[in-house]
Amino acid sequence: MLYLDNSATTKVDPEVFEAMLPFLQEEFGNPSSKYYSQAVNSNKAVEQARQHVADLLGTSSKEIIFTSGSTEGNNMITKGVADYYANQGNHIITTLVEHPSVLESCKYLETKGFEVTYLPVDKFGRVSLDDFKNAMTDSTILATVIWGNNELGSLNPIKELSDYCLEKNVFFHTDATQVVGKVDFKLEDFPGISFLSCSAHKFHGPKGVGCVYIKKDQYDILTPITPLYHGGGQENNIRSGTLAVPGIVGFGKAAGLAQERLEQNIKKLKENEEYLSSILKEKFKEVVVFNNDTFNKIPGILNVQFKGINNELLLKQLAPVIAASTGSACSSSKPSHVLNAVGLSLEAIRSTVRFSISPQIHKEELSIFSSL
Ligand code: PMP
Repeated sequence: MLYLDNSATTKVDPEVFEAMLPFLQEEFGNPSSKYYSQAVNSNKAVEQARQHVADLLGTSSKEIIFTSGSTEGNNMITKGVADYYANQGNHIITTLVEHPSVLESCKYLETKGFEVTYLPVDKFGRVSLDDFKNAMTDSTILATVIWGNNELGSLNPIKELSDYCLEKNVFFHTDATQVVGKVDFKLEDFPGISFLSCSAHKFHGPKGVGCVYIKKDQYDILTPITPLYHGGGQENNIRSGTLAVPGIVGFGKAAGLAQERLEQNIKKLKENEEYLSSILKEKFKEVVVFNNDTFNKIPGILNVQFKGINNELLLKQLAPVIAASTGSACSSSKPSHVLNAVGLSLEAIRSTVRFSISPQIHKEELSIFSSL
């Protein structure tokens, strides 16, 4: 069976699995405990993982706060910034194509008196810098914009948007869940990004673990926010809860592998994306329409309309041989809000399928489409 739903989640890499095992068994200690070997070894492993994640993101390990994934990270930053800086302003800027963990957090904040601007997007799901600049007011405290779209793969102009926020002294958060490990960037080149969220399971790490990047100031103090969880303050007093050591170790290993293989992975994803689109065009001719852009995107994501064919029926029929989805797995029962925001008709949305490739897929495996 060919698994082409890697934007929903990925298989844990065998090396990641191996790295995690000791921390499920003999090295089971709580990294916040002291002196005895299980605690010390767990703590060492967590700090090593933090360094690998920081290296992949191009920042310092001090700025990495482990979370349970991007849903938590996106909630933590939007709500945490809004609460902490409420006396400085009540306006937030976001886009219509964010993940529900950002959109629903913003809707919640509206019920608490915040005003949210939901920016429209172009036909590939990108915001315009002009719209962004025009939306900014004296009471804007936070802008949160997805880096790479989970359905269409399109990349937003994060450098320009975050630089503008830096100029205006407004916090900028980006949901980078889909780009980490698939797009070459270093946070040190993005001084305007104050916060970033990501999840390990999108690049062959385990589920239920991720991190937020929180920028530090010149005195090494992390940008303060109100914590989402109150408790023991394990993660720099910003996030509480006993650390999920096996998951964190797996995250660190996946980050290390992603960094090592980044160049070759990107090359492979691009080649395979081109190959798959050429097969689809040849096989289905005018029946297929590509909703995604071909440039300036996350490699390996194709968003394809099969005209006149119901996507759910198609996926059901394909399921024994090809695993794919209609778009975001997080809200699969509703028509995609992303495709709606880019202006597609309900009919077009109902015939769209997303194929998302992993670097672990070989070109020959994609030939299965020719024999359908
Ligand atoms: N943001 C984006 C863009 C995503 O694709 C996802 C996962 N579908 C999330 C946030 C949430 O990540 P998680 O489920 O790991 O919390």
